[in-house]
Amino acid sequence: MQVRDKIFIDGSWVASTGADTIEVINASTEQVMGTIPKGTAADVAKAVAAAKAALVEWGAKPVEERAKFVQLIADGLAARSAEIAETISGEVGMPVFWSGMIQAGLPTAVMGSYVEIAKNFKFEEQVGNTTVVREPVGVVGCITPWNYPLHQIICKVAPALTAGCTVVLKPSEVAPLNAFLLAEIIEDAGVPAGVFNLVTGTGPEVGEAIASHPDVNMVSFTGSTAAGIRVTELAAKTVKRVATELGGKSPFVILPGLADEQLDQAVNAGLGSCYMNAGQTCIAWTRMLVPRDQHDAIAAKAAAAAETFALGDPSNPGHMGLGPLISATQRDRVRSYIQKGIDEGATLMTGGADAPEEFEAGYYVKPTVFANVTNDMTIAKEEIFGPVLSIIPYDTVEDAIAIANDTVYGLHAGVFGPDADGSVAVAKRLQAGQVDINGQKFNPLAPFGGYKQSGNGRELGAHGLDEFLETKALNY
Ligand code: NAD
Repeated sequence: MQVRDKIFIDGSWVASTGADTIEVINASTEQVMGTIPKGTAADVAKAVAAAKAALVEWGAKPVEERAKFVQLIADGLAARSAEIAETISGEVGMPVFWSGMIQAGLPTAVMGSYVEIAKNFKFEEQVGNTTVVREPVGVVGCITPWNYPLHQIICKVAPALTAGCTVVLKPSEVAPLNAFLLAEIIEDAGVPAGVFNLVTGTGPEVGEAIASHPDVNMVSFTGSTAAGIRVTELAAKTVKRVATELGGKSPFVILPGLADEQLDQAVNAGLGSCYMNAGQTCIAWTRMLVPRDQHDAIAAKAAAAAETFALGDPSNPGHMGLGPLISATQRDRVRSYIQKGIDEGATLMTGGADAPEEFEAGYYVKPTVFANVTNDMTIAKEEIFGPVLSIIPYDTVEDAIAIANDTVYGLHAGVFGPDADGSVAVAKRLQAGQVDINGQKFNPLAPFGGYKQSGNGRELGAHGLDEFLETKALNY
């Protein structure tokens, strides 16, 4: 049980001005695994004041000096990786094997990447008689979700600190314990007081106070499209910069002409993406677009492959399948989508809306595959955020592109075809911020972000640093 009764403001652990707490529930045992303060707008005001006061000195430091702190934080994350992996595995339900690699390993790598990026970034350039300088945007409010909780935080905090900004972080109230570990690491690294502040609490209270505060210069938000819209509306009143990383309904286009072995690879890549973190992944390829004459064969292959994804206890280090979903709300929501798929006439190939029998506790949902899905069905249109794959047949590659783009979202996509050039040609026509071609790996240095209602702005790599900088022209 991790009892956290203080928030981190101006370099100190202090009590919230509110007396309430929020319980954090373990996704597989359904037991309370921790409590956190339910912060208030008054806490946000204090944190913003501290961040504003720290800004001048932090922003004026040479970037190499800030990068030294970034390196120390990366080292601290690496040193505490087992604790981070276990904590997030408990909060989110991701098996600890994957949690170690992804929930702890990825944010450590991203943090460290900014040391090198800082060295090579052009903070100044000459345009005729003008020196164009890049300066920190100011006090940044970071609001983050629960699915890859520390990764989402680091995608903001690492570039913001590197850029010379100061930060007020509000992590998800559903998976907040990892943020306390980060605050301890930042404290241990000796980062000056006020540069990083942590206020925990709910979106409507703490999140909205951050988005509305006149001394917050930028809000960087990751979460649902609905909450992103609300944050953008509130931030507009003081003309803040707003960066949003929102929902997705990503397509995976399997092109005609794949040899058998390649087809197996493609189906496995598709399921791997769709079921990662039990489907609670913003970039999950939840719509698999397949040539109509291969639809039945691919659907059978996908169902057989889905049945190899075992459900199990996330705390078991040997379990490499799926864990439970994060919460009862999320489980019920996903099951109701599965029922909707059945009701709207999609073919249920495997899985289903009923509870898996083998668990006494935990928010488990069966890995599910639907075939004969049309793009106007609810399961093809709405973000489900669970292990549910929809297989959609297409007639021509032109149709596939049209179906892939027929969504309000545009976060990510995949293309798998017999030759790289053909796949790249299709990828270029997809309206998505990132496209994986023929089974490529995730690149943590590549710009990441959405088209359309998947958000505005880019995180990761040098593009992620750019997001936290203002541009000034000095003419002389
Ligand atoms: P959510 O929108 O419910 O919450 C995200 C954060 O916003 C939380 O910290 C929450 O407290 C806060 N929040 C909620 N309402 C708010 C309000 N009115 N004002 C200010 N803050 C508010 O999302 P979630 O359920 O935590 O996460 C799942 C969603 O996040 C999915 O839609 C997923 O696609 C999206 N997501 C996107 C990315 C990406 O990079 N594009 C990454 C991960 C998750």
